[in-house]
Amino acid sequence: MKLINGTEIAAKVHAETAARIAALQSRGLTPGLAVVLVGDDPASRAYVRSKDKRAAELGIHSVKHELPATTTQAELLALIARLNADPAIHGILVQSPPPKHIDEAAIVLAIDPAKDVDGFHPVNVAKLALDDPTGFVPCTPLGCQRLLTEAGVKTSGARAVVLGRSMIVGKPMALLLMAKSTAERPGGDATVTIAHSRTRDLAAVTREADILIAAIGRPEFVTADMVRDGAVVIDVGINRVDDLIAPKGYRLVGDVDFQNVAPKCAAITPVPGGVGPMTIAMLMANTVTAAERTAA
Ligand code: NDP
Repeated sequence: MKLINGTEIAAKVHAETAARIAALQSRGLTPGLAVVLVGDDPASRAYVRSKDKRAAELGIHSVKHELPATTTQAELLALIARLNADPAIHGILVQSPPPKHIDEAAIVLAIDPAKDVDGFHPVNVAKLALDDPTGFVPCTPLGCQRLLTEAGVKTSGARAVVLGRSMIVGKPMALLLMAKSTAERPGGDATVTIAHSRTRDLAAVTREADILIAAIGRPEFVTADMVRDGAVVIDVGINRVDDLIAPKGYRLVGDVDFQNVAPKCAAITPVPGGVGPMTIAMLMANTVTAAERTAA
């Protein structure tokens, strides 16, 4: 069994990104990223902190906007409008989920698609579906695809099962895996099945997978009987489970029962240290791409 080390692969992506930033800076351009957080959800706050920190380490001009939970839709839209118009900002990210009174779809729609480095704007969703490489692809599935290619997993002709159909992970993941592979974006040409909460005989479906992507948000849901021998498993899940002996009172587990599934796999990602670091790495890469496009 091979452990796919997301921390190491993310470091490689960051090194590429740093070189691209240096090239832009030699032309007088510093990529800028605005990260917006509304409210005080602890997990969201932690994500925003690590994105902001990593951006600053790479030399990206990173601006963090931490707004109170009472922020109105109009106030948030006004901030987005300012960021859209700011030439020093190339990427805008509004951390999900916002408080209940905020219409998230309307916020995503307000972001300039050319600055939508999360890839959630309908224009970018359409570009992914249309195989148009000028869009932005959501960072988590993009990171999963990179993990597969870096680990030398052959996706062409493989049976891939994506467990979960969210717009953030499952659906774009399926689109990436089914797309025709290109030199710029290898890791496609798979035969893809998407499974979800209404899928009949789920274990029989997941057992078909040469490549299984688990993105459902259920701790250790994927058990050994759901995975075929020799499969490659990418575990997107990040779930907090109570753990009284852990310093924080909880620990993070994936959507896969790692201990029992790993021995059956050709390769598998751990949680933490698998997909998580790749999400941030691809966000930084997308931000630099946005800046490069303004300089082209
Ligand atoms: P969502 O809740 O938006 O989607 C979950 C999907 O899983 C839905 O399509 C749902 O089906 C499906 N699902 C839920 N329960 C079951 C079940 N029992 N059997 C089959 N399918 C089921 O979650 P996200 O896609 O946003 O996130 C998924 C996981 O990935 C979470 O743990 C999240 O924390 C993690 N994540 C990790 C990231 C990273 O950087 N590593 C980034 C983003 C997410 P249905 O549509 O039918 O309801």
